[in-house]
Order: sequence, then C-alpha cells, then structure tokens
Amino acid sequence: MAQEVALVTGASSGIGEALARRIARDGRHVVLVARRAERLEALARELGEAHGVGAHVIVKDLLRPGAPRELVEEVARRGLTVDWLVNNAGFGTAGRFDRLPVQGELDEIRLNVEVLVELTGRCLPAMVARKAGVVMNIASVGAFAPGPYMATYAATKAFVLSFSEGIAAELGGTGVQVLCVCPGFTRTEFQQRAGITESGGPGFLWMEADAVARKGLSALDRNAAVCVTGVPNKAAVAMERLLPRVAVRKTAAQVTKRF
Ligand code: NAP
Repeated sequence: MAQEVALVTGASSGIGEALARRIARDGRHVVLVARRAERLEALARELGEAHGVGAHVIVKDLLRPGAPRELVEEVARRGLTVDWLVNNAGFGTAGRFDRLPVQGELDEIRLNVEVLVELTGRCLPAMVARKAGVVMNIASVGAFAPGPYMATYAATKAFVLSFSEGIAAELGGTGVQVLCVCPGFTRTEFQQRAGITESGGPGFLWMEADAVARKGLSALDRNAAVCVTGVPNKAAVAMERLLPRVAVRKTAAQVTKRF
C-alpha cells in the first residue's frame, strides 16, 4: 500500500488539505496541487516528516488553458502513477445570477466541472488497465436541488454528482472505485471566497473539514458511490427528495438569500 499515490487537487486548504492529511496518515504518497506554493510546501514537509510518505508539490492554476493536461504530464514525468484521483479543487459564487460577473460563473464551471472531467478522463484509462484505482469527486449537498442565489454553483455540483454516479455504474467490476462526496456547510475558506457568512446557514448543519474527510474516506471503505456527509445533511437531502420541486426551490431560496 505504501506505493500508492493520491493526487489531491485543492490541497492548500479546507477539505482538500484535510483529505491529504488523512490519506498520508494512511500511508499513501500524495501529490498536492493548488496555486499557493508556500502552503503546499509546508504541508508536504509536514506530511513527509510525520508519515514517511512521499509528498510532492505541483503548483498549478487549474483554470489556465492546458493546465489539467500539464498536471498529468508532470506527474508522469516525476515517475508517479495516479492510484487515487481526488477532484476537490472548486469554488462557489453567491448572489443573484444577473448581478454576478459572468466571467466568474464561467470560471466556476471550468474548475468545478471541466477540470474535474478532464483529470478523470486523463487518469481513468490507466486505472482501468491496472484494474485498480479510486476517483473521489467532491460535489455538495447543493447537488441535489436547484440553488437560488448560488445557481451556477449548485448546477456544477449537480453535474459532478450525476457524472460520478454514471461512471461509477459503468466501472462496476473493473476494480476502479468512484465515490462522490457531498458535504454540506463546512468551515473552510470557501465561504470567504464566496462572500458567505456563517450565519447564512443553520448552526447545526456546519461541519469541520476533517470530519468531512473522515466520512468520505470511510465511505470508500464501504464501497459507497455517494456519501452525503453528516446526519443533518442526509436528512435534508432525504427531505428534498420527498418534497415537490417547487417547495424545494422556495425553501432553498429562504436559506441562500441570506448569504
Ligand atoms: P477552500 O478552503 O476554498 O479550498 C479550495 C481549494 O481549491 C484550495 O486549495 C484552492 O487553492 C483550490 N483552488 C481554487 N481555485 C483553484 C485553481 N484555479 N487552481 C488550482 N486550485 C484551485 O474550500 P473547500 O470548502 O475546502 O472546497 C473544497 C471542495 O469542497 C470544493 O469543490 C467545494 O465546492 C466543495 N464544498 C465545500 C463546501 C463548504 O461549505 N466548504 C460544501 C460543499 C462542497 P489555491 O487558492 O491555493 O489555488
């Protein structure tokens, strides 16, 4: 197991950092990817020293044209194989769609959707050939319902959930596992970047990044295809499935318009 390598995008903070910490603690080498070099270098040093694993840093703005291809090529150039692909890098924008700069919405779709699909498409064939591998995609509880005031974000995560479930079903019996993790409100830098305050969501729904990472990794052990993190989030998603869509839209708007 010590030879396995996990490529984690968005490892410089939040859920990605928490996942990288736990994956390294479990004895896997990690490739840490994000834009902030200092954060990644510090984390790599810490994980290498604490767990004796290889912790590699690739500083990359994944929004740049060609970046996902360059990333996979750089991993190969370093003689590493991607055994686990953790598609975590992502961000959200909040506000009424007509008032948001459209370029930000397009970048959000590019990072949350296109980059995730491209990295998966570039790493998956080798996993299938080896009859082993893990793709962990980070979606959101927002994937299960329309997201007024975060309309683009919810739509990107709906894509991630649907795409992940689709390929998980295709890959049954190949030895490659696909898991879609759907966190709810999680204390990270996400809110600050999206301009959301913590008071925007009910207190009992909030989780720590490490708890999300722990639940995601234990869902892999259970061979689950989808993991909604935390009991309150699971209950919210179950309720959304029972309610008429119009009620779901209105309730979602009540929560998110306070952002
Ligand atoms: P975060 O703390 O803001 O982390 C986002 C990560 O993505 C950072 O490491 C950031 O690193 C990286 N990133 C952003 N833009 C990038 C780019 N252009 N190129 C490369 N890396 C980039 O937020 P988080 O909550 O941990 O988010 C992780 C995932 O969880 C996201 O997909 C998010 O949608 C999802 N999620 C979050 C919540 C929540 O409430 N926090 C809930 C549900 C789902 P750099 O800035 O250093 O590049």
